[in-house]
Amino acid sequence: MRIETKLAQIGTKKARTTGSINFPIYLATAYEHIGGVSTGYDYARSSNPTRHILEESIAMLEKGDAGFACSSGMAAIQTIMGLFSQGDHLIVSMDLYGGTYRLFEQVLNRYGIQFSYVDLRDIKAVEEAIQPQTKALFIETPTNPLMHVTDLQAITRLSKQYQLWTIVDNTFMTPYLLNPLELGANIVIHSATKYLGGHNDVLAGLIVTKGDELSERVRFLQQSIGATLSPMDSYLLMRGMKTLALRMERHQANAQGLAHFLKEHPLVDEVFFPEFDPNSKRILSEQAKGYGGMLSFRVKEAKLVQPFLEQLQVFTFAESLGGVESLLTYPATQTHADVPADIRQKVGVCDRLLRVSVGVEHIEDLEQDLAQALQRSEEIVYGSESK
Ligand SMILES: *Cc1c(COP(=O)(O)O)cnc(C)c1O
Repeated sequence: MRIETKLAQIGTKKARTTGSINFPIYLATAYEHIGGVSTGYDYARSSNPTRHILEESIAMLEKGDAGFACSSGMAAIQTIMGLFSQGDHLIVSMDLYGGTYRLFEQVLNRYGIQFSYVDLRDIKAVEEAIQPQTKALFIETPTNPLMHVTDLQAITRLSKQYQLWTIVDNTFMTPYLLNPLELGANIVIHSATKYLGGHNDVLAGLIVTKGDELSERVRFLQQSIGATLSPMDSYLLMRGMKTLALRMERHQANAQGLAHFLKEHPLVDEVFFPEFDPNSKRILSEQAKGYGGMLSFRVKEAKLVQPFLEQLQVFTFAESLGGVESLLTYPATQTHADVPADIRQKVGVCDRLLRVSVGVEHIEDLEQDLAQALQRSEEIVYGSESK
């Protein structure tokens, strides 16, 4: 079956005793051992029937061996980090999601795990960063917010050569556009709060592993740490995922339209969208099914940012992504506020940068909103000078 069909039918034909089209929400935390024998469900932290259908589905969608649903994207990352011990070292994408950076630098560092931030587009730099205690690569692609695309095939070739694990945060692309496990990665994680949920109403994280040994280790960690997804949220997430294919097609088409519109705008200096970088474009055309629904852009001057945000009528100024509604984020004060200013500047997350999560609205409404907000902010900032 093709992915569109798999998505639409998540949980269908699974409730065999009732024929319920949607898989029900099982709230029980304890399960009877009927005749002294476990049904496979004993206690809800270890496994839950509703969560199980979600975990089975994401494993199938990502073409992995096992899936795990966690209480948030960060909980999924923290669970995976349980694979590592004091003294271990990981190589990580440079302009990482701010919350992941904070977990690595302010929590896991205290446990003696070290991280090096490398531009993963530069395979030679990655190889040079490998130390004897390096255990894994942690990759976001495209990166957040600069949309740098990593060549996963080249990276996993290197990882295998040095016997490192490759962990990919696939939140931006989703399994609809990219399957990192097929390209040689060992673990995929998702903030399912974003595109997979798709409606800004469920906080969730997912993990998919390849290989039985790794799957068993992560199963042990999920059960031991206990940052699992509730049955209610498991249900909500599956409901969202059923329309992922439709939503991603519209997100992508709208993002591409807006990227081209912004590129021509005189108040915009630079647009970060994978299509505009020849290398990213080549990699995604070989390894993925499109450019995704995210883009960033730099306005000419930082003083345009505040009036621009205040003039927006269709876009909402908010700190998330991947939902049906278009959101605009100011990384310097929102998603990347915990990244020190000098590091932010160094990696290009400057005070003129805005990030757009392009929703599924009509493209002309989105374009007109950006156009009017840019024009009004120009009048507010330069109005008196130009007259
Ligand atoms: C949001 C996000 C996370 C964290 O996920 P939560 O569900 O908010 O805990 C991790 N990685 C990326 C790329 C994200 O966008």
